[in-house]
Amino acid sequence: MQHERVAEDVYFFQSDLYAQVNAGVVAGPDMAVVIDTLAYPEETLAMRDFIEHELQVPVRYVVNTHYHADHTWGNYFFPGAKVVAHSLCHQYLTERGIPALEAAQKENASLRQIKIVLPHVTFTDGEMGIQVGKKSLRLFSLPGHSADSIAILVQEDRVLFAGDAIMTVPYIIDGDFEESLKSLKRISRMGLENVVQGHGDIILRGEIDGAVKDNTEYLNAIRRAVRKSARRKYPLDLLETVDVESCGKSRVLLGGLAGQLHRRNLIGLYHQFYGEEPLGSEVYFES
Ligand SMILES: [Zn+2]
Repeated sequence: MQHERVAEDVYFFQSDLYAQVNAGVVAGPDMAVVIDTLAYPEETLAMRDFIEHELQVPVRYVVNTHYHADHTWGNYFFPGAKVVAHSLCHQYLTERGIPALEAAQKENASLRQIKIVLPHVTFTDGEMGIQVGKKSLRLFSLPGHSADSIAILVQEDRVLFAGDAIMTVPYIIDGDFEESLKSLKRISRMGLENVVQGHGDIILRGEIDGAVKDNTEYLNAIRRAVRKSARRKYPLDLLETVDVESCGKSRVLLGGLAGQLHRRNLIGLYHQFYGEEPLGSEVYFES
C-alpha cells in the first residue's frame, strides 16, 4: 500500500494488491474521517495503523463512496466509527454485499475474519456535511458508476474524493452510461485543486480537464462500437474485436485489469442499450 499527503491533514492510500483502488483520510485535532476502505484486510489494517500511529486520532466516521467490495469490506476494521453512505448503498450492501462476501469467503481465507458493516447514517437527496476540525466535508451524489455513488469534497482544499465516478478506465456495467458522462462533466466544472479518483493516481489541477476529456472520449468510443455492433447479426463477434487501445486506453491501467473491465463494459453497455445480451455466432459449452 502506498500513501501520500494531498493537502494539510488530507491523505490518500492506494492498494498494491487490487486495481490501484484508493482510500482517504481527513484528520482533525480530535478525530479522523476515513473515505472508503481498501480491498483486502491487510491493506485496510495498514491504513488504520498509519492513522493510529502517525495521526494519533480516533476514526469517528467511515464514508463509503459506493457499495462495491473494494470500497466497503474494510468497514469492519473501524468498530468505533459510524459508517456514512447513500441510502442505496445500505440497500445494495444488504441485498448484494452480504451474499457476495459469503461467496468470497469460501474462496479466500483472509476474508473470513470480516463481516459486512451496513451504513449507520445515510442520505438520499441533496448534500450532507461533516466537520473535521477546520475542514468542511460535503458529501453529494455523483452517480454513473453505480446508482449509490457519492463524492466527498474537502471544501477548504478543493480536493475531491470522487469515488469511481472517475477512474483511469471508466467502469459502467453496474451503473448508467448517461449519468457517467454527466458526473464527469460536473467534476470538470467544480474548480478543483486535486481529484482522488476511485482507482489510479491522484489527478492534479492541470490534469483534470485532460482526464475528464479522455474518459469522455473512451465512453463515446464504446458507445459507437456498441451501436455499430447492434447493426450486425452477431453483435458479440464485432465487440470481441474492439480492444481497449482502439478506444483510447491502455491495457496496463488498473494494475492490468483494464482489458478485462473494457470487455465487460462493451457487453454491459450493449445490455443497457438493448435490454439483452449480444449474440455471437459461436456457441461455447463449458466443460
Ligand atoms: Zn472500485
